[in-house]
Amino acid sequence: MPAPRPSQSTEATRAAALQAEFNEKKWVWVPDEKDGYLAGWVHQEDDETAEIIMSSGGEIRRVPLYALSKMNPPKFDRVEDIADLTFLNEASVVHNLRLRYGSGAIYTYSGLFLVAINPYQNLPLYTDAIISQYRSKRRDENPPHIFAVAERAWVNMGEERENQSILITGESGAGKTESTKKVIQYLSAIATDAHPRHPSHSHSASMASSFPASPPSGLPRRGSFHAKATHVTSNSTGGAKGRLGLLERQILQANPILEAFGNAQTQRNNNSSRFGKFIRISFSLDGSISGANIDWYLLEKSRVVVRSAAERNFHVFYQLLSSGGSLKDTLLLDRPLDEYEFLNRSRREVDGVNDREDWDALINALDIVGFTVAEQFDLFRIVAAILHIGNIDIRSTKSDDAFMPDPSQAERVCHLLGIPIAEFTRAILRPRVLAGREWVTQARTGQQSLDELASLSKSLYEKSFSALVERINRALDRPSSKSTFIGVLDIAGFEIFEINTYEQLLINYTNEKLQQFFNHHMFVLEQEEYSREGIEWDYVNFKLDLQPTIDLIESSGNAIGILSCLDEECIMPKATDLTFTEKVHSIWSGDLRATEQPHPGRTKYTLPKFEQGFIITHYAGKVEYRTDGWLEKNKDPLNDNLTRVLASSSEPYVASLFQDFAGVFADMPPSSSAGFSAGKRRPIKRGAFRTVGQRHKEQLALLMAQLQATQPHFVRCIVPNVNKKPGRVDVPLVLDQLRCNGVLEGIRIARLGYPNRLPFVEFRQRYEIMTPGVIPRGYMDGRKACIRIVEALDLDTELFRVGTSKIFFKAGVLADLEERRDAL
Ligand code: ATP
Ligand code: MG
Repeated sequence: MPAPRPSQSTEATRAAALQAEFNEKKWVWVPDEKDGYLAGWVHQEDDETAEIIMSSGGEIRRVPLYALSKMNPPKFDRVEDIADLTFLNEASVVHNLRLRYGSGAIYTYSGLFLVAINPYQNLPLYTDAIISQYRSKRRDENPPHIFAVAERAWVNMGEERENQSILITGESGAGKTESTKKVIQYLSAIATDAHPRHPSHSHSASMASSFPASPPSGLPRRGSFHAKATHVTSNSTGGAKGRLGLLERQILQANPILEAFGNAQTQRNNNSSRFGKFIRISFSLDGSISGANIDWYLLEKSRVVVRSAAERNFHVFYQLLSSGGSLKDTLLLDRPLDEYEFLNRSRREVDGVNDREDWDALINALDIVGFTVAEQFDLFRIVAAILHIGNIDIRSTKSDDAFMPDPSQAERVCHLLGIPIAEFTRAILRPRVLAGREWVTQARTGQQSLDELASLSKSLYEKSFSALVERINRALDRPSSKSTFIGVLDIAGFEIFEINTYEQLLINYTNEKLQQFFNHHMFVLEQEEYSREGIEWDYVNFKLDLQPTIDLIESSGNAIGILSCLDEECIMPKATDLTFTEKVHSIWSGDLRATEQPHPGRTKYTLPKFEQGFIITHYAGKVEYRTDGWLEKNKDPLNDNLTRVLASSSEPYVASLFQDFAGVFADMPPSSSAGFSAGKRRPIKRGAFRTVGQRHKEQLALLMAQLQATQPHFVRCIVPNVNKKPGRVDVPLVLDQLRCNGVLEGIRIARLGYPNRLPFVEFRQRYEIMTPGVIPRGYMDGRKACIRIVEALDLDTELFRVGTSKIFFKAGVLADLEERRDAL
């Protein structure tokens, strides 16, 4: 929290001195490769360039005028809302953020955004005392904070009975997931405060009815396999947490579960979420939490089989292997970590991560959320089976046919998955395929069989993850017609890497849609404000110009988009990544293809530097996408034979994972039905084959539809430096993020209108002094007084608008007024 303020008079004197010093020179920001922007003042200037004396060191630089940005007067230093800056330029935005961050203020508003810069240290910002400080307060009554955003969402929801959403984006490591947790912490604390719970509260009762207190017969009360999980409930920590009811605790405990299965250590973040999520928390009319629901997006399942050497697989693999007790024996996990192929080619341990403790926390969380021992076992059964699949050895004969020299590994897999070894081996090594009207055995090379095992591992992991989330939802979800929700979206921001591939396209497409949503929202709000104030404004300039890029990616039907173009290629018999790429070029480049010339508008399409790929111009910048592997990634194929084997597993959990994906029996090769007794056959519906792109497009459309029905709040998380160190701001890095996360785009939009606005009273108080005698003594209506003042000030009429309660200015006008006022 801010230090006690100095007395008003010393503060005023200091401010006056600073201002006087500032007024002596024409201060500007000069672009700089290394530092982003440096302060300096104009020594001399001609029509095109200026000679700048740099503020630190006194070095002289000659700079073209267009490259200079005006500096805001010192009274704007550390403003809590960037939108209040009178010069709204990149340099001033980042200067303000840096100043604030330097003094521990990690949160700053920028109009509709809350910008949060990762502190990389634990600041005392999230205590119960701080929660109380934000309780029932307006945004401007407290310093910017994630709690203020949560509070506002809560209040709006209550007052307007409207669903709310909090959209949190940012790069990996920026603090999205931490921010999400803070929002949930705040909401559960205030919902509990409003409605102190008693153990016999109805939620506990309803939980008890859906989740029997004792596990099904034959199973011990608590996990027999976790040696001594420390069942610390958050009760012991006191404060608001100590009063949380079961449902709130379950909601909080869903997180360690999701993180164990969905997070991994990466080079950028030791606890990186490898999926996106939208958590909705529902509240009853009385403000108490009535349920929660989680949707997830784009799990990076390829990590299960490959990753860079400096990164790890999903946390749960290491946690399981660190566990004590008999579970590992039951799962046949009798080897040390480095003897598992899916773990041993990359990093194994992470600083600051204790897998054993996290394992205990995971089991504790599963217990609290209500997973029975049998259900927990099923989750780990899949994790273990994947480790064993990774160790299956497959080779090629001289004639390049796949064979399995030692079936013992596959036996472990089949034991855990409840499937017959013969069927499994055949599906991997020699699947039957329909050739015309005949079933034939397909010869496979060792590599092809290994690829199939990799697909199986990824698929098992993803399906189990999906089932896990569904199971959590069953515990938390209590739909009720009267409830309203606050949804928190924690999803990866825009990505521009050295090499960008299909995953980046899907992420960037998502972000393009979210940015469009923001632009639209901001547009509507601005429009409302202007019309409320009776101000005419030319909306023509206000372009919502992300649509062409979105169409380029998602259109289907006649005006084909890139995703449906890829889908088409996926069903063409001879198509390859190259034919797809060529098709993209021929559809969108036309004659411009080889010339690197942009299409008109923002959506440019040009030939990339490398062989196979294309460039899309997103709002955040041009991105080169490399197209190798896209057909496979999009089809995400799992051999039909294999899905059938798994769908008929004797383990109900395993079978359930493959229900929707198995083909109907009519398509089955006659001979292979041998392994499926009639009794085992379940009605299996044929899940319509959908590509990864289609599925994502549909999910995203659902998400957007939900968001559109909410009042949104926007949080932008920022990584300050690449070293994960507190206190350092790498300005070019931050600027890149501000460009990608829409903060600068928001400012651009604001500048199209009249971004600075003052209520009449304030304007008059501050600037009446500049126009002595203009306002007669005695009462004068605020609006009239303002009009008189601006007229007397002789301001260009394009620079301001007078509303019904406020006066609006173009960017920079207030700084000029300040200067003139100070010169009096
Ligand atoms: P990813 O996209 O990789 O999931 P993310 O944006 O979700 O990244 P987080 O996992 O939330 O990033 O944050 C990364 C790390 O930064 C955290 O593990 C924590 O160490 C630190 N961190 C983030 N926010 C805060 C905060 N408000 N206070 C203290 N530390 C923080
Ligand atoms: Mg995260």
